[in-house]
Amino acid sequence: TRTPLMAGNWKSNLNHVEATGLVQKLAWTLQDKRWDAEKSEVVVFPPFTDLRTVQTLIDGDKLKLLLGAQDVSTHDGGAHTGEISAKMLAKLGCRYVIVGHSERRTDLGETNADVQAKAVRALVEDIIPVICVGEGLQTREAGEQIPFVLEQVGGSINGLKPDDIARSVIAYEPVWAIGTGKVATPEDAQEVCGAIRRYLAEDFGNEVAEQVRVLYGGSVKSSNVVALMSQPDIDGCLVGGASLQVEEFAAIGRFYDLVGS
Ligand code: 13P
Repeated sequence: TRTPLMAGNWKSNLNHVEATGLVQKLAWTLQDKRWDAEKSEVVVFPPFTDLRTVQTLIDGDKLKLLLGAQDVSTHDGGAHTGEISAKMLAKLGCRYVIVGHSERRTDLGETNADVQAKAVRALVEDIIPVICVGEGLQTREAGEQIPFVLEQVGGSINGLKPDDIARSVIAYEPVWAIGTGKVATPEDAQEVCGAIRRYLAEDFGNEVAEQVRVLYGGSVKSSNVVALMSQPDIDGCLVGGASLQVEEFAAIGRFYDLVGS
């Protein structure tokens, strides 16, 4: 069985002082509402400049929140000005790292090969990559989303060992749903997430495919999280805007309590 994963991608928001406030309030709210860390993993992905501060809070207060980074270098360190290596992230207590977010694919031209190289670096340091894929509006309107997304998945995990794939996370984030308030219907999200799992099963066998957690991302809120999480192949959510709102993200973290409410 796959532990649900609720991932808060802060993107380029909050300095380290603001990060302290958000993480403390989030931890108090989750504790107050009796969040059960066995029922969902809750991970925050602050900007690089906040990681040390959030790590210190998590360690000092023994919080059950997990920490992740939003990107990692394809290099192992050395003469690469401005790059942050997987080793540095591991030292900061990062358990996860987002690779290939659509904003980086668009803004910086990151390719599947770049994403694959980042995933490899992360896995070597025992950091779980959250590999992002998702089609744009034109592709969706042409009904080409499944072949498009499967090609991204294939290119982004090319050459990875089956064991490494099994512990990785794949996040399906249709670009037209990101930051637009237009959430994919649970059925549309399931269609693609299910296709991703079938593709993994065909290439790497059922045992691997059954372990991989597949997330949905794109305008997730507390009001739509339950319907999304009720789908068989959606194992969690990658949340942008709503992860900056304490009550919203705490409710998303405790999605299992919202069932039937
Ligand atoms: P929103 O939740 O703001 O739509 O962002 C989704 C996203 O890109 C998370 O990585």
